[in-house]
Amino acid sequence: KERRSVLGENLLTIVTIIGVVGGTIFGLILKKSDQKWTQRDIMYIQYPGDLFLRMLKCLIVPLLVSSITSAIGALDLSLSKRIALRSIIYYFTTTICAVILGILLVTVFKPGKGYQTEVQNDAKVTRDVLTADTLLDLVRNLFPPNIIQATMFQYRTQLEPPENATARVVVPLTEFKIKGEWREGMNVLGLVMFSVVLGATIGKMRERGKPIQDFLVSLSEAMMIITRWVIWLSPIGVFFLITAKILEMDSLADVIGKLGKYFITVMFGLFVHGFGTIAVIFYITVRKLPYGFVFKMSQVLATAFGTGSSSATMPITINCLDNMGIDPRVTRFVVPVGATINMDGTALYEAVAALFIAQLRNIQLTFGHIVAVSVTATAASIGAAGIPQAGLITMVMVLDTVGLPAEDVTIIIAVDWLLDRFRTTINVMCDALGTILVDHLSKGELSATNARLESGEPHE
Ligand code: ASP
Repeated sequence: KERRSVLGENLLTIVTIIGVVGGTIFGLILKKSDQKWTQRDIMYIQYPGDLFLRMLKCLIVPLLVSSITSAIGALDLSLSKRIALRSIIYYFTTTICAVILGILLVTVFKPGKGYQTEVQNDAKVTRDVLTADTLLDLVRNLFPPNIIQATMFQYRTQLEPPENATARVVVPLTEFKIKGEWREGMNVLGLVMFSVVLGATIGKMRERGKPIQDFLVSLSEAMMIITRWVIWLSPIGVFFLITAKILEMDSLADVIGKLGKYFITVMFGLFVHGFGTIAVIFYITVRKLPYGFVFKMSQVLATAFGTGSSSATMPITINCLDNMGIDPRVTRFVVPVGATINMDGTALYEAVAALFIAQLRNIQLTFGHIVAVSVTATAASIGAAGIPQAGLITMVMVLDTVGLPAEDVTIIIAVDWLLDRFRTTINVMCDALGTILVDHLSKGELSATNARLESGEPHE
């Protein structure tokens, strides 16, 4: 039976990759045809993909809350703290490395030089939200006043085209509009915080906390079973999501002139970070190269690419790490938190994009500016929700640090949907590798805890 399920999983991975490639080719063929594709046609084509996305999204809240809470509740408080600390160190180290790499690349390649004349320097629109407000919002959102409301759309953030540009960014982004389309989300950061505190309390309550712990463990298990069913739809889902996206977007060839170098800089950065920097960090800690693991994650990476959302991919990431034998108590903490705050690809892109726009606008940057960009790019990646193109909006805050107006993000909008897919794939890959790394570092303590719990000793 086990062999059958391994075969099934491999088959599914292959079919999902075919879904990504096939969706791209099919989209390009349809786009090339003489037919004019209306919004309505695209909506019909996207329909199966939409259903898949909705099913995944539906799992996020119950899975996130039940898995983080029960994972922390199942461990000693001191071990939970150590696992949390290791993850946070990993998240920060890798995010900072990504930002530094982005800054280096954009400074060396100078993708924005030579186009000054094409961009008008008439930024007249002012923002009504300062970077400080955005940072305060980031912390404010850690403490949702109403936990049910935190699972729903709370804020309205708009990014309108330049003519009547107004930008209001509330982090983490929960609802916003790109090219007239509303994006949705939830206050995931607040939910994570609540689950961490609840889990730690349940662990401390020992016997009295057991009923709620048992309930959450079975809820999380049930969510994983549903996830395994939904995963079977991923090849069809990603196929139609990608086809529709390709039909909807402007032809890349049209924008390659001005944005080509920028696109290549980000792509090169993502590649070097994902397969170079992370591999070095992984090798130093785990004493193994991560490529074998990356290969086993193909299904997860294909879904991340297809959906453009770390949060929607989260159930599939957890399932894949479970299959690889990673301790569920580690996975259930590190993956959801990582999907929310650890976005290396986004951080790298934020830094490159802000400095690219500064180069286009011919703005001379001081060292102080560069430091400010690194700090805000890190914060912007933490604040970006794990939903499609959230990074584009939190970038308003990075632009602000170099004195650029919010509507300048529209300069890079044409290629953003595609870059978003790639950066989401790197975000998800780094979360998954981080989980394996933290699991490796915590192995000894986890088995000591298991032995103690088996011998009937209570939590510390
Ligand atoms: N779509 C990205 C993610 O879900 C976030 C972003 O960079 O826009 O990880």
